[in-house]
Amino acid sequence: MQQMPDPAAGRRAVLAAQLEQLEARVATACAAAGRDRADITIIAVTKTFPATDVQLLCELGLTDFGENRDQEAASKVAECAGMGVTGLRWHFVGQLQTNKSRSVAGYADVVHSVDRVRLVGALDRAAGEHGRRLDCLVQIDLAEGRSDRAGRGGALPAEADQVCAALAEAEQLRLAGVMAVAPQGVAATDAFARLADLHGRLRSSYPSMTVVSAGMSGDLEAAIAHGATHLRVGRALLGSRPPLR
Ligand SMILES: *Cc1c(COP(=O)(O)O)cnc(C)c1O
Repeated sequence: MQQMPDPAAGRRAVLAAQLEQLEARVATACAAAGRDRADITIIAVTKTFPATDVQLLCELGLTDFGENRDQEAASKVAECAGMGVTGLRWHFVGQLQTNKSRSVAGYADVVHSVDRVRLVGALDRAAGEHGRRLDCLVQIDLAEGRSDRAGRGGALPAEADQVCAALAEAEQLRLAGVMAVAPQGVAATDAFARLADLHGRLRSSYPSMTVVSAGMSGDLEAAIAHGATHLRVGRALLGSRPPLR
């Protein structure tokens, strides 16, 4: 009898191979930095990729998934639940408009992009309405004073304290750490060193800030060298994305 081809098998093999290569990079970077692999979480950033990829990566052992646009994230999370893929931790990593707080608070477990006091209030109310608690990271703008500052979001380092203070006061939100994207045109290692300094300073006032979300496909080694606990990896795991609309 002829074997039925399994359409998922090819994709599963590709994802497994890419995960293996990623794990090798992470292991090498951990060894170079004298760090323990167990202290680092890989978040698969699945934006533009289908829920079936989430399912396959989940079968390959990943538990943490990231999205950067509310509409896409909301429908993908629902689709995963419909396929019986549950028990995942969803990370919202994109810039967050205040009016999307209600939606994001309904499915996200961790919001990486909290960068202003107004957003803290909106997220706190929204989480309360859903009866949920959210872990929140303060996004730091490391492109401070540079022309490419616009667009990525993030609090200036000098503004971070007031966002932390607001999060620490919020009923439904837990101040869990910091997040940053290395700016274009700056060595990632310098940017992540500044993030590590700032994190150390903030953490001495707010001990719950244990998370450093830094490092993407192109710069995860530099992030690991400077204390990242969470890597947000898209392309290295899932392949190249279609260009942004
Ligand atoms: C897309 C995205 C990533 C993943 O980037 P890759 O270069 O594909 O690894 C990480 N963080 C944020 C905020 C993103 O939007």
